Amino acid sequence: MGDSRGRVLAVLRRYCGYDSFRPGQADLVDAILSGRDVLGVMPTGAGKSVCYQVPAVILPGLTIVVSPLVSLMRDQVDALNDSGIAAAFVNGTQDAAAQSLVLDRASAGSLRMLYVAPERLETPRFREFASCHDISMVAVDEAHCISQWGQDFRSAYLGIADFLSCLSRRPVVAAFTATATERVRRDIIGLLRLDDPMVTVTGFDRPNLFFDVIPASAKAKKEWMARYIGNHPGESGIVYCSTRRQTEDVAAMLIHRGIGAVAYHAGMDAGERERAQRRFITDEVDVAVATNAFGMGIDKSNVRYVIHHNLPESLEAYYQEAGRAGRDGEPGRCTLLWNESDIVTRRRLLESSEDNDRLSPESRERVAASRRRLLDSMVGYCRTTQCLHRYIRRYFDDGDPHVEGADRKCGMCVNCTSTRMTTDVTGIAVAISRCVHDLGQRYGMGRIADVLRGSKARDVIDRGWDSLPSYGALSEVSSAKIREVGYQMASEGLLAISSGRLPVVGFGPQAVRTVDPAFHLEMSRLERRHAAGSAAASSGGGASSGDVDEGLVERLRALRRSLAAEASLPPYMVFSDRTLRDMAHIRPVTDSQFLAVSGVGETKLARYGPRFMRLIRDYGTGHRTEVGGGDR
Ligand code: ADP
Repeated sequence: MGDSRGRVLAVLRRYCGYDSFRPGQADLVDAILSGRDVLGVMPTGAGKSVCYQVPAVILPGLTIVVSPLVSLMRDQVDALNDSGIAAAFVNGTQDAAAQSLVLDRASAGSLRMLYVAPERLETPRFREFASCHDISMVAVDEAHCISQWGQDFRSAYLGIADFLSCLSRRPVVAAFTATATERVRRDIIGLLRLDDPMVTVTGFDRPNLFFDVIPASAKAKKEWMARYIGNHPGESGIVYCSTRRQTEDVAAMLIHRGIGAVAYHAGMDAGERERAQRRFITDEVDVAVATNAFGMGIDKSNVRYVIHHNLPESLEAYYQEAGRAGRDGEPGRCTLLWNESDIVTRRRLLESSEDNDRLSPESRERVAASRRRLLDSMVGYCRTTQCLHRYIRRYFDDGDPHVEGADRKCGMCVNCTSTRMTTDVTGIAVAISRCVHDLGQRYGMGRIADVLRGSKARDVIDRGWDSLPSYGALSEVSSAKIREVGYQMASEGLLAISSGRLPVVGFGPQAVRTVDPAFHLEMSRLERRHAAGSAAASSGGGASSGDVDEGLVERLRALRRSLAAEASLPPYMVFSDRTLRDMAHIRPVTDSQFLAVSGVGETKLARYGPRFMRLIRDYGTGHRTEVGGGDR
């Protein structure tokens, strides 16, 4: 065993450039190599690909990787080849001749890995190829696509088990996914017909990510984004919006302020999308402003921040998107901008979504109920005052036995780095309750605020509301404040807000509390220590940041960009941001020093080592004095 362990680590080192496995990886690799099926459930960025790449190098035959992400295949294959692993893909973007060429190479034994979309497995040509070829492993990426309970069901995934059974020898099957509830997990195991698989679920926490939640009006959101992005030039970021229109508006707003940005959404034609994606991946522009169509096909490891301009439909969706920040392990910042009307919009969308025509009324209701629950967890995330890392961890329930003391501050989320100021809003709450009563639980928050503030508006007077007991009771309080307290009352069950197109405010299940003489309500507000923004980048949550020469990092980055252009690769594939920082820290000038940099294997050493070492040598002798440090 010791020996094979050494072999495995040597492969990890040589082809991936890493000294050690991350949590979960070693167990999965060992199981695969011993011939056992596996299911790896790991969050985005945890390093699923290493789990099948390392065995693919070691196993005698070919590894087939099934992935739904055709747009990613070229990049993945380029990156593998750049690391010295012979890989190729067959998919519909190639003509028949090109496809045959790839299969010929595979037949000749000159490929280690072959990427295909699930539909390919059903074609006679591919079946014929596979049945007479030595296939050691089939790795199924995004395995949750097999389940109708997940969000991305792909019926072609159901054909994988069939494909496996037509092979002369059954290969080991390794399934991977980032999102799997218990139910989806059972589907994956059952429908792929995994044979007594080893199931590994690794922690869902991402300690290098700083989580921030900011309540903001639509206008404040734009201002915040423009300021934050403007303060982080040269860093890659993604802004998620919920509609195509918004992505275009936000991108235009950023461009107007001189920030390089592209919009990306499913309404663009394939060519435009491809171009937008390229410009982002090659670091030509800093920011991609996208709907959730973007991301399934993106694998950029140096995304430093993800901003949500709207509320996602579930914490799963949020975490998957936000998790695209900091995949290289360097600090990343995930900011959720939200307001009450986002919640109303989301609820409305839920009620009106009718993509389940084929389901029976009962199943439809079940799906709707489950969607409501998913949304509630997202809303809970916006409102919670506890540590956000902890909230996420508990939600995904990673079974971490080292549950820390509830009071320890994580230092990596807004709730643990800001102080709260609480104000007593009992009087306002009681007045709102009275007004809801006076209006017979038939109107929305806006009308309630009008009455309480003693509005002289025509329709208020015409309806005779100026003679209601609660009229003018809060004439000194702003309408925004009244709404804010009202929404908090709703979240505590004191009020209930209907989810129709014109939400009506009524009493909630806890409403009687407001007439109890001991009733007391406080509202807490975060006092931000910094102008929201710079905390994560400068707090150095990631391991290798800290005292490196930023001027040198800049130079390394520029060199990376030109080498990437020469090799027609995205820059982060040449080396990750983390590797560049480690390089700036170690300042290698010999081969063995260069190999000690995290993320450098032998192929990369041979390919890029000399140019980087020359730069480092020159920098050391000539440029020590002009350390820029730039924007930080
Ligand atoms: P996933 O597919 O789980 O989202 P990836 O396989 O793309 O994640 O890996 C995310 C990042 O982590 C990549 O930049 C990868 O090179 C890096 N990585 C993976 N395994 C390791 C490791 N053992 N040590 C250091 N970095 C790693």
